[in-house]
Amino acid sequence: MPTETIETLIVGGGQAGLAVSHMLSRSGSPHLILERGRIAERWRTERWDGLRFQFPNWSVQLPDFPFRRADADGFATSPEIVEYLSSYADHVRAPIRCGVTVTRLSHGNGASGFLAETSAGPVASANVVVATGPYQRPIVPPLLQDDPWLFQVHASKYRAPDQLPAGAVLVVGSGASGAQIAEELLRADRRVYLSVGHHRRMPRRYRGRDLIWWLSFLGLDRTPTEKRGPDRSLPLITGAYGGHTIDFRAFARQGMTLLGRVVAAENGILDIAPDLAKHLASGDAAYAGFLDMVDAHVARQGLDMPAEPGARAVYPDPPQVAEPLRRLDLRAAGIGAVIWATGYSCDFSWIDMPVIDGAGEPVHRDGITDVPGLYFLGLQWLSRMSSSFLSGIGEDAARLADHIVARRSA
Ligand SMILES: Cc1cc2nc3c(=O)[nH]c(=O)nc-3n(C[C@H](O)[C@H](O)[C@H](O)COP(=O)(O)OP(=O)(O)OC[C@H]3O[C@@H](n4cnc5c(N)ncnc54)[C@H](O)[C@@H]3O)c2cc1C
Repeated sequence: MPTETIETLIVGGGQAGLAVSHMLSRSGSPHLILERGRIAERWRTERWDGLRFQFPNWSVQLPDFPFRRADADGFATSPEIVEYLSSYADHVRAPIRCGVTVTRLSHGNGASGFLAETSAGPVASANVVVATGPYQRPIVPPLLQDDPWLFQVHASKYRAPDQLPAGAVLVVGSGASGAQIAEELLRADRRVYLSVGHHRRMPRRYRGRDLIWWLSFLGLDRTPTEKRGPDRSLPLITGAYGGHTIDFRAFARQGMTLLGRVVAAENGILDIAPDLAKHLASGDAAYAGFLDMVDAHVARQGLDMPAEPGARAVYPDPPQVAEPLRRLDLRAAGIGAVIWATGYSCDFSWIDMPVIDGAGEPVHRDGITDVPGLYFLGLQWLSRMSSSFLSGIGEDAARLADHIVARRSA
């Protein structure tokens, strides 16, 4: 098969691939996007039905393309995000080929530039932007592999409560996915056990403004990677049911059973770490720290934003805090389903160049690698906190496109 040649190849047709495509088009730089599925594939097939975008409609923004919604303070559904990204692709006339997987990326035969092997034949290029997403390979701890009687699903394949067999459900993981899925199941009258690990709980709204407004107003979303501190986790928030603050103690009051981290399992009996109190406390500290920061800023600037002492109210601890559950017999508890909301890892196994470190993560500075012409875009904390947010992609995309154009002139 003859090798197709293009100046810049973009791998991935999500928000990152589309945004950098727009930036390259603006400077007349020829390029091609290859997408193995459809535009915004992950929003089509890797999100549950009840998920709401966690950022309010007014804040959703791709470069040069506003997200117009009558309900500015509402939270979009996944189909609405798919529609927005698809319209964006049309609007910027993105040169995208869907249904084409890049299976290997290398230097080719030692010549400068890159050779991408794809499901539709080879493509040579001077530059490659890898925009395959921050959430690529679902992580499922190998704890319950020998329990075929149990229905197990990763959060990326969970759809709705009625997908699960009748009975109680264990949700493992208390990040944005775990917390939201656990709440959805509780509202669907399921008996829910939630294994709580490290999280960074934030208020949905405070002193009259949404968290996203505060992140932007205080400049926190622009925190550069080198200043992010040891905690890499993103804010734990939800846009479901009109958007509200996630409070695990409130879930417990509504009947949810909270547990510490699941550390081992044998014959369907789980060992649970006695660390629920520790994780609730660190989530509380993140939450209170944010309120303190806002209060200090409001006081310093003399802003007219009414105080909200109610935001600091704390429900009593559920009994499992003082007397942690150390073992959970899934059968005895009537648990027939486990949802693994245990996160994702990268999968750059198809990149055959020395830019991936021992942990499988790309080595780069703000998306630019040591291999001239090879870039990464859209990853968590690529250059700053908002790098993987839909509304934060524009700046990174513009910077990488400028680098590509400068390379071309050089
Ligand atoms: C449950 C959940 C909720 C989220 N909610 C929000 C939210 O409310 N707000 C927000 O801003 N972000 C949210 N995110 C994060 C957001 O979904 C991602 O940051 C976003 O999808 C990243 O966009 P991207 O273009 O970088 O990557 P992706 O959307 O992952 O797009 C990458 C594309 O690359 C394609 N691809 C991968 N490998 C190949 C290959 N080898 N060849 C060809 N194509 C390939 C994939 O099919 C995919 O379409 C959420 C994530 C999850 C998991």
